[in-house]
Amino acid sequence: MIDIKCGKCTICCGVECFNPVLFPFEEKRFKKYSIKIKTPFQDIFILKRKKDGQCIFQNKGNTGCRIYKKRPVDCRLFPICLKFDKKGRYKLIMDKDVCPIVEKGKSGKKKMEEYLKKHKIPELYGKAYYYYIHND
Ligand code: SF4
Ligand code: SF4
Repeated sequence: MIDIKCGKCTICCGVECFNPVLFPFEEKRFKKYSIKIKTPFQDIFILKRKKDGQCIFQNKGNTGCRIYKKRPVDCRLFPICLKFDKKGRYKLIMDKDVCPIVEKGKSGKKKMEEYLKKHKIPELYGKAYYYYIHND
């Protein structure tokens, strides 16, 4: 399982930031905690947020992830972000503005490429992800 060594600052779990999209094989596991977004391709599921805008899995004081060891792949990738174009092709971009462990994250890029290929992520949901990001 891909897992970049995170600094656990929780910045990316907060308001107005990263909203984790569930990969197709995670949808069932997080069903109770996600929202369905309809797209012309396939439905996309994103994690719910609490009333204060923080991720539903942030602990009570918003100081950490309650499911850290089992968090979704999209969280494990950060600071690597997956950006799709309308044909479902992707680029891996480092989020330098938010995450303090950008340098560590760079080493995860190769592993990430292999992971995407193995699980056919672009084929499975690239176009739907693009649609969701650009029509939100
Ligand atoms: S911003 Fe980076 S270091 Fe902070 S919780 Fe997110 S991934 Fe971890
Ligand atoms: S699941 Fe955990 S790591 Fe992912 S956004 Fe929510 S609190 Fe952060």
